[in-house]
Amino acid sequence: MTTNQEIEKVTGLEFPCECRGCRGYSADLDSVWDTSQIPNKVAGHYFSESTRRFFHSRINSFRHLAGGSLAVRESLAGDMDNTYRIHRVVLFCRYGTLQDYDIHVNRYNTGAAATKIMRALPDDAVNSCECHGCQLDKAGR
Ligand SMILES: [Zn+2]
Ligand SMILES: [Zn+2]
Repeated sequence: MTTNQEIEKVTGLEFPCECRGCRGYSADLDSVWDTSQIPNKVAGHYFSESTRRFFHSRINSFRHLAGGSLAVRESLAGDMDNTYRIHRVVLFCRYGTLQDYDIHVNRYNTGAAATKIMRALPDDAVNSCECHGCQLDKAGR
C-alpha cells in the first residue's frame, strides 16, 4: 500500500482530503452494463434518488469512453411542473467525478439529438479532468 507521503514525493501534489481519487479507488465505470448501476458508482449527489426524484430525472443510456470514463444520457423535467422534457449528456471520469459542463449548451430537445451528441463524443472527451485522482494519475502516481 502506498502512503500519502509516498504519493506526494512522486507527484509533487498534495491534497487536503481523502476523496476517492486521492485514495486511488476508481469508480469501476468500465463494468457498467445497465443504467441502474450508474447512481451507485458516480460520486456526489448528481444521480442520487432524491436528486432524480426532484428533477424527474431518468437515465436513458450510456457510453464507455477511454480510461474508464463514462458518458451518460439523461432526461429531466424542463420546468417545475414537468410539462416538457429536456435531454442532456453528462460525463464522469474514472473516479466518478462529474465534469464541468455548460447547462445552457448541453441541453437538447429530444433524446435522439442527445444520442447523436453522445455518439459523436471523442473517446478522450474526459481526458482533461482535474479531479484529485486524475491529477495524481497524470503526475505519475
Ligand atoms: Zn482528494
Ligand atoms: Zn477525474
